[in-house]
Amino acid sequence: MRRNLVVGNWKMHGSSASIDQLLCGLQQQLTTVCSEQVDIAVCPPAVFISQVSKQLAGSIVACGAQNASDQQEGAYTGEVSATMLAELGCQYVIVGHSERRSLYAESDAGIAAKFIAVQSQGLTPILCVGESLIQREAGETLTLIEQQIKAVVDVAGIDAMARAVIAYEPIWAIGTGKTASPEQAQQVHAHIRQVLAADDPAVAEGIQLLYGGSVKANNAAELFGQQDIDGALVGGASLKAEDFTAICLAAIN
Ligand code: PEP
Repeated sequence: MRRNLVVGNWKMHGSSASIDQLLCGLQQQLTTVCSEQVDIAVCPPAVFISQVSKQLAGSIVACGAQNASDQQEGAYTGEVSATMLAELGCQYVIVGHSERRSLYAESDAGIAAKFIAVQSQGLTPILCVGESLIQREAGETLTLIEQQIKAVVDVAGIDAMARAVIAYEPIWAIGTGKTASPEQAQQVHAHIRQVLAADDPAVAEGIQLLYGGSVKANNAAELFGQQDIDGALVGGASLKAEDFTAICLAAIN
């Protein structure tokens, strides 16, 4: 049986002091969550990874990053490499979040390069895919998701997916308070598994597929109850210890 995974994406929020407070709250409240039952990670802004990683040492919560360079070293001003993230103790890296695709013009090819760079350092990429409202209304969702996944599989190979996580995040549901219905999310997750199964059924069966888009304490359980939803990528609700803990508790299976 696949384990559920809940990942907090803190985006560009927080200060050293507020993060310290959030982590203390999480560590207190998550004592009821057994590491045998659910995987948990938080992805702070890059400048706070060192602090978070040290504070989480020995806890059941892993540390991740929100982005990584497709290069490992060199004259790339402002970039942070997967090598550096590994040295800081990261286990996961979010790759291809819709905010990076839309605000920073990240292409499918560039995302595939980042995915490979992250895996080359032994880190687990969380590959984000998702459609806009216009694409959903045009009936393009499943085709688009398939394209976004194939763009990575074609370059990295299907075996690479055995060491990755995929997060389905409909863009219209991110930060809007509008969640995809459990049925809408399940339909896409089942399709993702089908796309992967055409290349390797075992990889398709084993991969953790997260849903992201306004996941809250009050809708998490219903989403996690779907056959092909194995946890969540959580933005807004990951900034409050109580809310994030409630989502982690709902993910225990
Ligand atoms: C996200 O940014 O990945 C996300 C899902 O955000 P939110 O939970 O706030 O919709």
